[in-house]
Amino acid sequence: MKPMTHPTATARDPVCGTAVVAAESRHSTTYRGMTFHFCSAQCLERFRQEPSLYATPTQVVDHRPLPKHRRLRILSADAATVERTCRRIREMMGVAAVEASGEVMLVEYDLRQVTLGQVEAVAFGEGVRFLGGLHGLRRAWWKFTESNELGNAAHPASGACCSRPPPRVR
Ligand SMILES: [Zn+2]
Repeated sequence: MKPMTHPTATARDPVCGTAVVAAESRHSTTYRGMTFHFCSAQCLERFRQEPSLYATPTQVVDHRPLPKHRRLRILSADAATVERTCRRIREMMGVAAVEASGEVMLVEYDLRQVTLGQVEAVAFGEGVRFLGGLHGLRRAWWKFTESNELGNAAHPASGACCSRPPPRVR
């Protein structure tokens, strides 16, 4: 099916809200018969992980950020690697701040736009390893709760929608 968009029509990146010229979009996907355009591969990946969170009709889309502050313990990496990694993470969509001092990396981000799993993947790609043990378990727990939080944001338990009546008040 041919998309019926004007060549210069702009679409809104449903993940970050950036205006994207649909005809020039290099990152797009279809979901439930609708075409969505994204500013970056990262936003497209976020969308694919949780499409129902972003693909709701625009008038009811909740754009409130879900701010996260994580304290990550660096296991092994030289200073230059850590600095380069911080720079790469800072360039990611949704990352508000990254700061490393000694063995600790502080990352602030909006969970709607980026997850700890994505931040970790970039760090691993640059050669930074994080501490295992209890810290590893904590990171696994954060990733688990982030996935739940995104799921809840996509399907607010108290909200009514077309296929589910509002909860009964007793
Ligand atoms: Zn985007």
